[in-house]
Amino acid sequence: MRQGSYIRAPGRHRATSPHPSRLLWPGMAVLAVLVLAVPMWLWQARPFDSRHGLGVDAPPAGIGAAQAPLGAPPTMPRGQGGYTFMRLQPSGTDPVAYDPCRPVHFTTSSVGLPPGGEVLVRDAVATMSLASGLQFIDDGLTDEAPTPERDPYQPDRYGDRWAPVYIAFATPEQIPRLAGGTVGLGGSTPRAARDGVLVYVTGSVWLDRDAMTDLLRAGRADSARAVIEHEVGHVLGLNHVADSSQLMSESGGSVDGPADGDRRGLAVLGRGVCRPDL
Ligand SMILES: [Zn+2]
Repeated sequence: MRQGSYIRAPGRHRATSPHPSRLLWPGMAVLAVLVLAVPMWLWQARPFDSRHGLGVDAPPAGIGAAQAPLGAPPTMPRGQGGYTFMRLQPSGTDPVAYDPCRPVHFTTSSVGLPPGGEVLVRDAVATMSLASGLQFIDDGLTDEAPTPERDPYQPDRYGDRWAPVYIAFATPEQIPRLAGGTVGLGGSTPRAARDGVLVYVTGSVWLDRDAMTDLLRAGRADSARAVIEHEVGHVLGLNHVADSSQLMSESGGSVDGPADGDRRGLAVLGRGVCRPDL
């Protein structure tokens, strides 16, 4: 908040005034008007109007937003495979999705990164980008350590924008939900626009470091990549299906990338609404 109301008490003028009682009340009235009007003018002229409704724990609205969607989601593939969404809008059946008018930035944690891990992440993200039409930007490596509760806005680390989607190879000690044989976790954080429409602003993927390293050492890079694609599917808004031929099968499913149902769901998620007010 900008400080800028500099109103001095007219002490010297009052001291030399020949009629203090006659000038005091009009002077105080003018002072009262100024005290009210100057902060109101500053409030209206402040450069942070775009944050209105989001609170202070958010970047200025519309960072990196273009006028139109950056990519083109593929036409809905045919097939029998189904899909479900992680979250629906409060009013209706539309899913919560990322804003297609801005790129989805992602960063990979250098903490616990196994050999070949960064390439694997990049390949998996490229596949999910193609299937959704959403454009991704690789922000490279970060030294942000995995924690269960991640702040979606970290200006000291990532600047004045929503924090990028965070992908980390972690241990159950760092992320307790990885305990018990869970190989990966993924999801995103929504924010509500003024009209209540929810839009994902950032997300996280946590991969069990030891399990993924074992897959890579065993020459099963396809399986390791499929785990990451599945978790990025959660980040983009897909939930599980019972069909084991789909990437979004809870038990792991396809290792050949997204199947027909996954692709239809991703094509829907690539058609989210552009919200420069977030
Ligand atoms: Zn899952």
